Amino acid sequence: MKPGRQTTLCERAVLSGRGVHSNAPVQIVLHPSDANTGISFVRTGLDDGRSHSIDARWSEVAATRLCTVIGDPDRASVATVEHVLAALSGLGVDNALIEVDGPEMPIMDGSAQDFVDAIDQVGISDLGATRRYIRIVKSVRVEDGRAFSELRPAGHGLRLEVEIDFPSKIIGRQRKAILLEPATFRRELARARTFGFLRDVEQLWRAGFALGSSLENSVALDDDRVLNPEGLRFPDEFVRHKMLDAVGDLALAGAPLIGAYRSYCSGHRLNVAVLEALFADRSAYALVEAPRRREGGFAGLSLAALPAYAAETN
Ligand SMILES: [Zn+2]
Repeated sequence: MKPGRQTTLCERAVLSGRGVHSNAPVQIVLHPSDANTGISFVRTGLDDGRSHSIDARWSEVAATRLCTVIGDPDRASVATVEHVLAALSGLGVDNALIEVDGPEMPIMDGSAQDFVDAIDQVGISDLGATRRYIRIVKSVRVEDGRAFSELRPAGHGLRLEVEIDFPSKIIGRQRKAILLEPATFRRELARARTFGFLRDVEQLWRAGFALGSSLENSVALDDDRVLNPEGLRFPDEFVRHKMLDAVGDLALAGAPLIGAYRSYCSGHRLNVAVLEALFADRSAYALVEAPRRREGGFAGLSLAALPAYAAETN
């Protein structure tokens, strides 16, 4: 596979499970798709018998409480899209169509590992088309109290730096920084599971969340104790999962980012908000192709070449 070229899946991959919030049974099919189509969801299994297409884009986000929901909740939406998007983005899959027959993606084991395995089983193919990147050229930052997410100009890939700070002793303050590459994603992030506190569960149930949550798909914490008999997969599994979520949320940019993402006590809402802030300022980003060996830099693209992006800046 040549770097800088667009990819898709070699063939379709099928997974099934349950939604962590809805507890609804769901089957998904990851389909190959053409160059320049990006990642999109096709929601089937609706009362009207029709299928609805939803682009995996920040502009389609409907909700960010506890998970990221895209689409129109009154017509067709998909919840908890972040882990499958993280797997596709982390492994460098540019184009795919995710068919889903329920309202929420399957939670699998609470991490992105099953999605990574499914992608590995079918393989990734080179579509021959040049990959487009979104290069950060001006810093953007969103805050909520002490929490923040920011994107800054940096380097030739996406560097992530995530810090969390929980009053719980078992989590406490954790910080992790990586340069996002397929090997690093597999090794450092893919297996990190989602987590939650037992004390929050009853309140979440009353609000209709976490109905499918169990020790098979979440790290459950009782103040300073991990309730899962197998324990943690990494001592700092919590910050790794937050970074995994950030990779999935940032995939909603619609193309790989070149720059540095940094967050403190952030979540889905601020991650989507930082993308909104980025795309609200046309001088904050540039659309570029992969570095050309002779030039050693990035070739700028005109907006005319990318109507999908141009439309967003209006
Ligand atoms: Zn997550």
